[in-house]
Amino acid sequence: MDFLRRTWAEINLDCLCENARAVKKCLSDRTEMMAVVKADAYGHGDRMVSRELEGLGVRRFGVSNLEEAAGLRSAGINGEILIFGVTPPGFAKDLAEYRVAQAILNLEYAKELSAAAQAADVCVEGHLKLDTGMGRIGFVAGRPSGSIPVLLEACHLPGLRITGAFSHFSSSDDVSEEGIAYTREQYRRFRDTLDGLAAAGYPIPFAHLQNSAGIVSYPEYQFDGARAGIILYGQPLDFLPGHDIALKPVMSLRSTVAMVKEISAGDCISYSRTFRAEHPMRIATVPVGYADGYLRAFSNKADVIIRGKRARVVGNVCMDQMMVDVSGIDGVQEGDLVTLAGRDGNEEITFGELAALAGTIHYELLCLVGKRVPRMYLKDGKVVKILDFNRV
Ligand SMILES: *Cc1c(COP(=O)(O)O)cnc(C)c1O
Repeated sequence: MDFLRRTWAEINLDCLCENARAVKKCLSDRTEMMAVVKADAYGHGDRMVSRELEGLGVRRFGVSNLEEAAGLRSAGINGEILIFGVTPPGFAKDLAEYRVAQAILNLEYAKELSAAAQAADVCVEGHLKLDTGMGRIGFVAGRPSGSIPVLLEACHLPGLRITGAFSHFSSSDDVSEEGIAYTREQYRRFRDTLDGLAAAGYPIPFAHLQNSAGIVSYPEYQFDGARAGIILYGQPLDFLPGHDIALKPVMSLRSTVAMVKEISAGDCISYSRTFRAEHPMRIATVPVGYADGYLRAFSNKADVIIRGKRARVVGNVCMDQMMVDVSGIDGVQEGDLVTLAGRDGNEEITFGELAALAGTIHYELLCLVGKRVPRMYLKDGKVVKILDFNRV
C-alpha cells in the first residue's frame, strides 16, 4: 500500500453503501434503483463503486457510453447496463456482445441500429428515450416525431428489443413555482406517452424518470426504476428544502504540507503577485494544483483544513502546487495532512462550498478530480485498495 502521499482522493465505500440504502428507503418496493456510474462514477472510480453496489444487490447501472459499459463488464459487473448517450449504430454487435441496452433517440436512429443489428445477426436491447422538456436527446413527447405510432414503429423494428423507456428532468432541483410546474409537465408528458403505448398494446416493461433530485423531491413520480447519481456519492442537495435523506460524502480530497516558510510584509505569493503580505506570515506549500482538479478559480478564496483548523489559499493556484496561510495554526510542519475537501476534526469543507466559490456545481468538481490523483478506497476504516493511474 506504499504510494506517493502527494494528493489523493479517499473514497469511503461504507458511506457509499449507507447512501445506497438511504436512496432505497426513498423508493417503494416496486421501484428499482439504477446506479448512475457514468464519468467514472462521478470521479469515484466506476469499477470499484459498481462492484460494491452490486454486492449490495444493485442490479442496474447507467453509463454515458459504450467504453464505460465495456469497462464495467471487464470488471465483472453482471447487472443490466444502460447507455444514456449516443452509440454509433456500427457498434450494434458490441452492444449485443456486452449485453448493454442502448438509449433509442429517435426513429431514424432506431432504424439505423435495427439495420446494423440485423447485418451483424444480433439483437440489440433498447430503452426509448423521450424528450419531455430537457431538450437534449430523445423522441420529443407530444410532437409528431414522438407520437405513439412513431414510437410503436421503433418498438417493432427487427433486431431491436425495446425493454424500457425513460426521460430526464431538467429542473427537478428547482423548487420555484415555475420549476415545479415544469417538472410536473415533464412527468405528465412521460406518463401520457407510456399510457398511449400501453393502450396501443405495447406496455413498457421498465419505465424510469427520476434523477437524484427527482427521487428526493417528487416521490410520487416513481415508475419501475429511478436513476440515482449524485445522492449515491453523498453530495447533498441542500437547495431542496424539507428533504430528509441523510447523505454521507463518499469522497474526501487530501494532500500534505510540502514546505513551511516565514515571509515578511511586502512579500508576494505565486504567479502574477495576486497576494502580497501586509505583515509577517507563515505560509505552507501544498502539492496540489489545477492539473489535479483543484481549480485556479479557488485562488485567494478557498480554505483547506490543517490540524483541524481552516487555512486560506493565498495567491494563484498553480498547475501542481499552491500556498496556504498557516499563520494562525500552531506547529504546522512538512508532512502534515491537508484536507482540501472533506472532514478533519470539527471542520468540514464540502464540494458544494468549493463549487460556490468557483460559480459551478459540485458535480463538476467531482468529475474534474484528475487521473493524477490516486483513489484510496476505505472500508470498515481500513484501506482496501489504492488505484494509482500514475503507475503502469
Ligand atoms: C447523469 C444522469 C442521471 C443522474 O443524475 P443525478 O442528478 O446525478 O442523479 C440520471 N439520468 C440521466 C439520463 C443522466 O444523464
